[in-house]
Amino acid sequence: METTTTGRCPVYKKCGGCQLDTAYPNQLQFKQRKTERLLHRFGKVSPIIGMDHPCHYRNKVQAAFYTNRSGKIISGVYQSGTHHVVGIDRCMIEDETADRIIVGVRKLLPSFKLTTYHEDTGRGFLRHVLVRRGFATGEVLLVLVTGTPVFPSKNNFVKALLKQFPEITTIVQNINNLSTNLVLGERQTVLYGKGYIEDVLCGCRFRISPRSFYQINPVQTEILYGKAMEFADLKGNETVLDTYCGIGTIGIVAAKHGAGQVIGVELNGDAVHDAIINAKRNNLKNIRFYKDDAGAFMEAVAQENERCDVVFMDPPRAGSTETFLRALIKMSPKTVVYVSCNPETLARDLNFLTRNSDYTVQKIQPVDMFPHTEHIETVVLLKKK
Ligand code: SAH
Repeated sequence: METTTTGRCPVYKKCGGCQLDTAYPNQLQFKQRKTERLLHRFGKVSPIIGMDHPCHYRNKVQAAFYTNRSGKIISGVYQSGTHHVVGIDRCMIEDETADRIIVGVRKLLPSFKLTTYHEDTGRGFLRHVLVRRGFATGEVLLVLVTGTPVFPSKNNFVKALLKQFPEITTIVQNINNLSTNLVLGERQTVLYGKGYIEDVLCGCRFRISPRSFYQINPVQTEILYGKAMEFADLKGNETVLDTYCGIGTIGIVAAKHGAGQVIGVELNGDAVHDAIINAKRNNLKNIRFYKDDAGAFMEAVAQENERCDVVFMDPPRAGSTETFLRALIKMSPKTVVYVSCNPETLARDLNFLTRNSDYTVQKIQPVDMFPHTEHIETVVLLKKK
């Protein structure tokens, strides 16, 4: 959402990144009602926790690059449902430094004779730019996603970028020549700096690689994780599972809150690699991370009759799976903390759990992680009857 003198975003309709074109209190009310509609049958929904300053909260910004018929380079987002790029220079929800860097990259391209990638022909160079900024550390990662590995005048381009944006701490070239909706490809090389950034959440320091998941709104993430810890109510010495753990954030924060032993599981290899280093970085020895499908992992653990006290689960939008939930019921931890970014799949999974076991929902807390968009984050506490 871009700000104007009238306060309304001029590309609201075309962009599609935001869906709630109404004052912030109304947005919160809309989300509260929707959460209640989907979840009230499981218990009382606490009032959603909104943001004090619901602007420029996104620490990760990505832009598609495109050259129009008159040869002008445009950077922005795909118009919803199309492959047409809507030019965006400033956005009300994105980090302002990230936006400036993306415009800077675009303006530098012509003087280096660098082209943009053309999806239909597979020709051309720059496809997307991704910027991630650690709000607590100020570290900035710039990822140049290119259609080919060949990078003409690479060193001079990097030099020019760093001169203009000394706040950039690392630059990575990622190669993506597939016809896919995914922004990042498999291959990447570090052009400058360490290849990742670090950020601080809940007093713990985290390393974040380009392809690892990291919550996009760190201000609200601290509140979300705070609620998750409050729900887990760790007394010390519990065995805790952090499933769908990403770079290990929840498990590491739980270990700092006194968990006796933490086991994390995550499918993305880069994120698991980050998680292992993050545990060391925070001087924690009682954590292990596994690269596996969370459902398969849970099944294996349940089969071995392993015990655990608390399970955190934070699946992607699609929610969890029956395999996972059945194994969870078999393991029967006394506490389950479900962190969800999609109340529809959350309702489906809670329905399965409450029908097939003696877990009951004790607390439902929505947290607004995504102001101006329709997305709703919720943390739910389940306990054995
Ligand atoms: N708990 C983390 C990450 C949550 S996002 C945090 O708060 O930052 C969901 C994570 O689930 C992503 O890292 C994604 O890579 C991972 N994931 C997706 N499908 C998975 C699966 N089948 N098994 C394990 N992890 C999965």
